[in-house]
Amino acid sequence: MSYTFRQILLPSTKYSIKAPFIMFPQFITVHNTANDAPAANEISYMIGNNNQVSYHVAVDDKEVIQAIPFDRNAWHCGDGGGSTDPNALKKGNRLSIGIEICYSKSGGVRYGMAEENAVQYIAKLLKQFGWGIERVKKHKDWNSKYCPHRILTENRWNSFLKRIEEAMNPMEIGKPTEKDDDKMQFSNETTKAAVRDYIKQAVDKGKIDKSWLDKFNAGTMTSGDFEGLKIIIEQRSA
Ligand SMILES: [Zn+2]
Repeated sequence: MSYTFRQILLPSTKYSIKAPFIMFPQFITVHNTANDAPAANEISYMIGNNNQVSYHVAVDDKEVIQAIPFDRNAWHCGDGGGSTDPNALKKGNRLSIGIEICYSKSGGVRYGMAEENAVQYIAKLLKQFGWGIERVKKHKDWNSKYCPHRILTENRWNSFLKRIEEAMNPMEIGKPTEKDDDKMQFSNETTKAAVRDYIKQAVDKGKIDKSWLDKFNAGTMTSGDFEGLKIIIEQRSA
């Protein structure tokens, strides 16, 4: 099972409608599209309309398409303007990467392949961010929406999570996930200056928002934040 990855990016002129806030991602939210459109159509429809509905990624049986950078929020959780406080209840729209799994309306083989691609892609993201499986949420966790409907109807949410864990690394299952909520620690000032310089260069080149540098300077950046930031910078450098 494999997929190709590509980006069809939301034009920044539409950020004000679809992705208005800078985001420090903390979760991945899983959705079913509840229709039978392929990922490319799902993304182009989302980009083309002017509704406050958006998501970062759509996955079908062949490809994973990213529309919104992971350092911008998207409107996919139905929990409103919400909060960026990690302890707040309503934070899906402000702290989570939204992933839509296509073909869920009719299901069948192509849905099964889309879901498996989502499993593999989410596993990859978790590893990149240094996150454990507890970071994966269903839409229903944020509001009452019955989504991802097919996974819920078929009573497979727990097995879906298990498949992601297995895809991450069969040897790692059962081990406690790395604690990544600690503030970044540096062995010496030179290392700290080098990291600061790395972030500042990315800001100067317009790859990331200045608020990342502010966060670093304020000493509130966690190791997990930094891992996510590196992914975002890499994506912009490709
Ligand atoms: Zn949903």
